[in-house]
Amino acid sequence: MAPLSWRHAAATDIGRLRSTNEDAFHADGEKGLFVVADGMGGHAAGEVASSIVVECFCERQTESHPVHSVEGARELLLATLARINRAIAAEGAEHPARSGMGTTATALLLLPDGRYVIGHVGDSRAYLLRGGEMDRITEDHTYVQQLVNRGRLDAEQARLHPRSSLLTRALGTEDSVEIDLYEGEAQPGDRFLLASDGLTGMLSDEGVASLMKLDLEVDELVRRLIEEANRAGGADNITVIVVDVTDDDGPSQ
Ligand code: CA
Repeated sequence: MAPLSWRHAAATDIGRLRSTNEDAFHADGEKGLFVVADGMGGHAAGEVASSIVVECFCERQTESHPVHSVEGARELLLATLARINRAIAAEGAEHPARSGMGTTATALLLLPDGRYVIGHVGDSRAYLLRGGEMDRITEDHTYVQQLVNRGRLDAEQARLHPRSSLLTRALGTEDSVEIDLYEGEAQPGDRFLLASDGLTGMLSDEGVASLMKLDLEVDELVRRLIEEANRAGGADNITVIVVDVTDDDGPSQ
């Protein structure tokens, strides 16, 4: 099979109600690495936590050779996320005002042959639109997701629940953290979405899916998703990365 290529666009927006943006992202089309992080904690600690995610992925990539195997992708994601967990905990120990800070991280690593691995902690999300159907790949580490898993709430009730953002797992809040990994094979025509809960808390899965199905270039789609989340209230910081997988050698951004 010919190697796949992809086009991506990424943006973050403060939203309409918050005075700071605690989200961060890293998007490197050349290396096929796309990461969304959503920090939390007082005294600007959320911004510190999510920026540590971006820094650690940048450093890690500079150090390591290009990843060509699923095993290598798994190893990179697990090692980097574990390193981030330790770095945030250390930062919190050094600066008591920041103790208790944490962050989500959802990281997609796409290999040239189309195989991909996602490493995930928290309630940022990865979705895949394929053949007109959109699936949520990641499962939220939240209190309300536990209620969904027990059949007590459906996805929409969970989204609208007053404690919807209460996390059960985050990076930096415990000595060690369990990291979820997801793997698959991308195909030409696939469209990935990574997003913080400032998007998915404002729009239903159906609402997000209907936007993802629009025939728009990635940068226009990213703008549109953020615009719709703000139109729906913009209650939180909004971060969006869209990746379109193709089998041509089109411009890789
Ligand atoms: Ca958030």
